[in-house]
Amino acid sequence: MATIEIDGITKRFGEVQALAEVRLTVADGEFLALLGPSGCGKTTLLRIIAGLETQSAGRVRIGERDVSDLPPRKRGLAMVFQNYAVFPHLTVFENVAFGLRMAGASKERVTAQVEQAAALLHIEALLKRYPAQLSGGQRQRVAVARALAVEPAVLLMDEPLSNLDALLRLEMRAELKAVLEAAGTTTIYVTHDQTEAMGLADRIAVMQAGQVVQVGSPSDIYDRPKTRFVGGFVGSPPMNFLRLLVEDGTVTIGGLRLDAPAGAPSEVLLGLRAEDLTMTQDAAQGLPFELRVAELLGPHVLLTGTVAGQSMRAMVPAGTTSALLKPGTVLHLRPDRERMSWMNDEGIALEARP
Ligand code: ATP
Repeated sequence: MATIEIDGITKRFGEVQALAEVRLTVADGEFLALLGPSGCGKTTLLRIIAGLETQSAGRVRIGERDVSDLPPRKRGLAMVFQNYAVFPHLTVFENVAFGLRMAGASKERVTAQVEQAAALLHIEALLKRYPAQLSGGQRQRVAVARALAVEPAVLLMDEPLSNLDALLRLEMRAELKAVLEAAGTTTIYVTHDQTEAMGLADRIAVMQAGQVVQVGSPSDIYDRPKTRFVGGFVGSPPMNFLRLLVEDGTVTIGGLRLDAPAGAPSEVLLGLRAEDLTMTQDAAQGLPFELRVAELLGPHVLLTGTVAGQSMRAMVPAGTTSALLKPGTVLHLRPDRERMSWMNDEGIALEARP
């Protein structure tokens, strides 16, 4: 069993509080993404789990073992970090074989595992080269292959695909997911890229300023953000928020009246995803949206404009008549009432929608 339990981890660097009592459990075989903006503490948390950094307080358990005070090599995990350290004096083959040789694997097993990992990362043709003869992206793939070759029970990765071009990254992402799933590896994957987290992870832990603010499946996080920060950070474009006054249990925007959730405070934020807005001819059913810019994005047109003086983005099908999409036009956008996120004026979700 390779569960990972992070129990009240706090980290201070002098005056800087990098982590504040982080609690998180990763199930055996689960793929968890740690997602958050630069400086939120993702790397620090990963380094503490790996044993490369010492926590100020709290414990880390892997499986049945409390590993909090063990050095990295005794924690039974493999890691790939952003700086993808590969051994410069070893060939690619020997780099990938390194962990297996350390573990005393047979010659046949070393060859088989290296070939498998190399094929997966498309580096078969590079096995005889030295790291100095590789590009940054190729070196990064060698580092990932080395970690996968040992078939670790626990794998920690910090932005392992950051040096690859977009197409290769997309391909590696899919393959990485398939391989780790098949191997049953428990994985923690640090990224600031929300599409990467959404695509790869079984669950995402969203971090902000040293804290985990929401943990859930990608659809949970996307559909039911617990805070304005999560709604804004996850999704492209970010979730729209309208600041509205509640009167007699309803909010009114132009001709549209919506029931606020029971017990809503006098001022609320209404969160709406761009794709949950549909153009309508019926002014009483739609938000009055003054269009500023229309951008064609393949199958969709991204509309940027304002509703009651507040900025708003909507995504409509690409076939939409261009006459409707002239800057300055007022359109009516009907929100999907099943998919609205209501929050208080501080950006905390008011209720869990079904
Ligand atoms: P990024 O995506 O930019 O790598 P991150 O979320 O991984 O960011 P961390 O590297 O974990 O963030 O840093 C968290 C906070 O701790 C930051 O405010 C950072 O400046 C601070 N910090 C990290 N390492 C140190 C250190 N060795 N000494 C002092 N402060 C540090």
